[in-house]
Amino acid sequence: MEKKRFDVVVIGAGPGGYVAAIKAAQNGKSVALVEKSFLGGTCLNVGCIPTKTLLANAQVMHKIKKAEEYGITTGPVTFDFLKMKTRKDGVVEKIRKSLGGLLQANKIQIFNAKAEFLSPTEIKIAGEENCILEAENTIIATGSEPLDIPAFPCDHMRILNSTSTLELTELPKKLAIIGGGYIGCEFASLYAEFGVEVTILEALPSILALQGKSVGDALTRSFKKQGIDIQTNVFVEGIEHEGEGVSIKLKDREPLYADLALVAVGRKVSSKHLGLEKAGVKLGSKGEILVNDKLETNVPGIYAIGDVTGKFLLAHVASHQGIIAASNILGQDVHMHYNAVPAVIFTEPEIATVGMTLEEAKSEGYNATIGQFPFQALGKSIATIDTDGFAEIIIDKGTGQILGAQVVGHEASTLIAEMALAIHNELTVDCVADTIHAHPTVAEAWLEAALIANDAPIHMPPRRK
Ligand SMILES: Cc1cc2nc3c(=O)[nH]c(=O)nc-3n(C[C@H](O)[C@H](O)[C@H](O)COP(=O)(O)OP(=O)(O)OC[C@H]3O[C@@H](n4cnc5c(N)ncnc54)[C@H](O)[C@@H]3O)c2cc1C
Repeated sequence: MEKKRFDVVVIGAGPGGYVAAIKAAQNGKSVALVEKSFLGGTCLNVGCIPTKTLLANAQVMHKIKKAEEYGITTGPVTFDFLKMKTRKDGVVEKIRKSLGGLLQANKIQIFNAKAEFLSPTEIKIAGEENCILEAENTIIATGSEPLDIPAFPCDHMRILNSTSTLELTELPKKLAIIGGGYIGCEFASLYAEFGVEVTILEALPSILALQGKSVGDALTRSFKKQGIDIQTNVFVEGIEHEGEGVSIKLKDREPLYADLALVAVGRKVSSKHLGLEKAGVKLGSKGEILVNDKLETNVPGIYAIGDVTGKFLLAHVASHQGIIAASNILGQDVHMHYNAVPAVIFTEPEIATVGMTLEEAKSEGYNATIGQFPFQALGKSIATIDTDGFAEIIIDKGTGQILGAQVVGHEASTLIAEMALAIHNELTVDCVADTIHAHPTVAEAWLEAALIANDAPIHMPPRRK
């Protein structure tokens, strides 16, 4: 079989792999990027971009429903879900095309093929081209896939996962979502906005249990107001076709009937069928590729980044890991730090977090306190009728260092960047309190939260001693 030699081979063209490929190529390396499916990976094709495109429609709908409060009278509002799905497909295709152009401009050789290690330095590719790639350095960026539960595997007709749900061309009347994590909650928010009766079935005591109590409680209140049925501490035992829909068997509860079920119980890393045993790469208990903070595996010259490392399963973490891995290949000595990873949930209202929650900070031994400012008390939020939610900062009382921040509400996705910058650069709460924030903006919520954390509130009554 023909052999081709490159300085760097990257397996997987998601936000981890393609960013690493660009970084290496821009610094003079010859780079091969192997992708068995579509450029852009999960994020562009069946993750971040398609979901946020559909959620943008829901945001417009949300505003229209509130039009009367702004003194605007609308006629009967209708929508065409097929048109929304077609727009979503168009957005994905457009970005995919420009990504292809960007990779070509960086002189990266793209192989549309499946990659498999034959040895630590040889990778067999099978697809549009069949050959062996030889490389001194390889970056594995093969991502993750939806987790299927053996008791109720997805049939992609009535029992869907996040990928098949994105292919729906019409809306169900009743949708049951198994799993109240961020993917389940985003779909709940999307469909409820368009009048679907949504039930979330969550095994834990709260939805968004990983994001901290204040965030989980706030979204629960808001979802209930929107008519979303949330059932917690429930265990789904099975899902069967019944009539035109599905019957969901619940432990110690009556079964639930819905037109469709969306299984959103998590993701599994894609480390199988890669020939990793032939390369000698070590895996963890969940199949994740074990890496150090330079993204090196146990095999010299082989790096792993993104979801397949099982760390954060977020696109921007994958991309940052890509930069770090490529920089180490280029001879620098750089390391990953995970203390300031922002995460956004694009529900209505939006949620964004970075760093530690109050509970985490206390359990880490910090003398932690919190400053929380409600949007109800903020001029800009009142002006735009976006008063749901709050911004909160967690600090260490002794040093004033900002340890974490959470925001629930309008523009949370944009607001969190200020706190990511603050935590990454180890800023103190005084740095935020001493910064002039433009008025009237929602970013003033950080200034107010910082003042409250310092026991010096201006636009809130003083804390009771
Ligand atoms: C519904 C949904 C919504 C999401 N929303 C967000 C969001 O809003 N923000 C966010 O940050 N993250 C979001 N994510 C997560 C995000 O998509 C992932 O964290 C991100 O895509 C991981 O990037 P990656 O490069 O590690 O892997 P991936 O994007 O999964 O890419 C891996 C690529 O490797 C390819 N591949 C696998 N095996 C091989 C092989 N043997 N040979 C060749 N190619 C191979 C795959 O085909 C794939 O294209 C979402 C995910 C889902 C499912």
